Amino acid sequence: MHDDEDASLSSLYREAAGRGADFSALDGKHEVEVAIVGGGLTGLSAAFHLAEAGTSVAVVEARQPGWGASGRNGGQLNPGLKFDPDALEAMFGPERGRALVDLAWLGPDFTLSLIRRLGIDCDARQNGTIRAASHGRAVDILKHTVEKWQHYGMPVRLLDASATTAATGTDRYRAAMLDLRGGDVSPLKLVRGLAAAASSAGAAIYGDSEVKSLTDRSGSWVLETSRGSVAAKRVLIATNGYTDDLWPGLRRSVIPVFSAIAATEPLGGRQASQIMPSRSVLYESGNITVYYRMDAQNRLLIGGRGPMRPLFSADLLPNLTGYAKRLWPSLSQATWTHGWNGRVAMTGDHLPHLHNPAEGVFALLGYNGRGVALSTALGPHLAKLLQGGAVKDFPLAVSPVEPIAFHRFWPIGAKVAIWHGRMKDRLGI
Ligand SMILES: Cc1cc2nc3c(=O)[nH]c(=O)nc-3n(C[C@H](O)[C@H](O)[C@H](O)COP(=O)(O)OP(=O)(O)OC[C@H]3O[C@@H](n4cnc5c(N)ncnc54)[C@H](O)[C@@H]3O)c2cc1C
Repeated sequence: MHDDEDASLSSLYREAAGRGADFSALDGKHEVEVAIVGGGLTGLSAAFHLAEAGTSVAVVEARQPGWGASGRNGGQLNPGLKFDPDALEAMFGPERGRALVDLAWLGPDFTLSLIRRLGIDCDARQNGTIRAASHGRAVDILKHTVEKWQHYGMPVRLLDASATTAATGTDRYRAAMLDLRGGDVSPLKLVRGLAAAASSAGAAIYGDSEVKSLTDRSGSWVLETSRGSVAAKRVLIATNGYTDDLWPGLRRSVIPVFSAIAATEPLGGRQASQIMPSRSVLYESGNITVYYRMDAQNRLLIGGRGPMRPLFSADLLPNLTGYAKRLWPSLSQATWTHGWNGRVAMTGDHLPHLHNPAEGVFALLGYNGRGVALSTALGPHLAKLLQGGAVKDFPLAVSPVEPIAFHRFWPIGAKVAIWHGRMKDRLGI
C-alpha cells in the first residue's frame, strides 16, 4: 500500500457527499467463497453482482470504499478504449474483440442503468461525450475515427468548428466527435451507493483493513490484515493505481501516474450558461489529455496532468486553471475552490489487464484513466469468473503478470513522456 496522500480528504466530492458510512475493520477469522482486495468500483461492482447471485463475498479495503481513484475521478462516463473497434477485433479476433467492444462502448449505458436500478443518487446525466481536436493532424484522425465508428453502427457524429463552439462555449477547437452514449456522475456518491447496495445484497465490506498477505493454505486463499483474516476459494485483487506488493510483480506491472483536477466555485448566470452549454463531458484528443465537465452544481472541473505527488489545492495546478481561463476568458474572475489528484494505472499496451497468476487468484487492473464506466460494467463478468466461470468467456484475455522494465524510474519517465507529448501537441504531430 502506498504510504502517501490523503488527497481524497480535500476533494470536492468528499465535501459534497459528506462523511458517509464507515465500514468497520476486519476482525477475527472469516470464511467466504470470494474475497476481494480493494473497495473501488472494480471490487464493489464485482461484489454487488456476486452477492446478488447468492455467492458469499467479502471486500477488504485499506481505507474506506471509494478512497482510491473511484471516489476522486473526473466523473466522466466515456464509451470506448484507446483503440478503435476494428483494431480491437484485429488484435483479439472477431469474437473476443466484439465482446470487448460491446463491454467498453456500452459501459456508460450499463453504468447508468445500474444506477437507475439501484436508485443511486449520484447526479447521473447522459449528455454525451465530446472528443475535441484543435490542430490539423488531430482533426484528420478524428474524422477517420468518426467514419470508422459510424461504420460500426455507433451513434457518433462529427461537429465542425462552429458546432463545437456552440457545444463548448470556446473557439479553441477545429472539430469534435460527439458520442451520445457518454455522460457523467458524482463519483464518490456512485461508489458509496454501490458499496451500500453490495452490503444490502449480503456482501461483507471491511474498511481500514489493509491486506498484508495472501497465502495458499491447502486449497483456500487466506488474506490477512493486522486484526483478522478471510479464507476464500477465489480472490480478486482490484487495487489498480494503488497496487502494492501483495502479489509478486503486480505493483511493477502498471505505472501509477497521478491525474489532477481543479474545480471552480458554483458558477452563476452567464458564466454557467456560456461554459459547456451542452453539458456534455469533454476530453481533448492529443498526446497529453485535458478533460473537463460542468457538474450538476455548475462548477467547472478540469483535469489533466499535474505534479507527480499528492496535492490538495488548485493553486498547485496553474497549468489547468490558466488553460481554463484561456478557453473561457470570463473565468478570470472565478475562484478555484478545490484541487486534488489520484493515481491511475497505466499499462504498456494501453489496455486493462486480467491476470490469473495462480489457481483461484485473479487481478484486474490498468484502466489507463478510463475506468469509471468500464470497471462498473466489468462487475457481472467478474462475478461469473469468480463463481468458477471459464476465463475464455471473459471479455479480456488472461495475460501473465509482467513487470515493466525500469519501473523504479517511472516518475522520471512520466515527466519525459509529458514533456514529449506537450511538444508533439504544440507542433500538431
Ligand atoms: C484524478 C482522476 C481522474 C479520473 N477521471 C476519470 C474519468 O473522468 N473517467 C474515467 O473513466 N476514469 C477516470 N479515472 C480513472 C478511474 O477513476 C479508475 O480507472 C477507476 O476508478 C479504477 O477503479 P478501481 O476500483 O479499479 O481502483 P481504485 O478506485 O483506485 O481502488 C483501489 C483500492 O484498492 C485499495 N487497496 C490497495 N491496496 C490494498 C491492500 N493491500 N489492501 C486493501 N486495500 C487495498 C485502495 O485503498 C483503493 O481504495 C480518473 C482517475 C483519477 C485518479
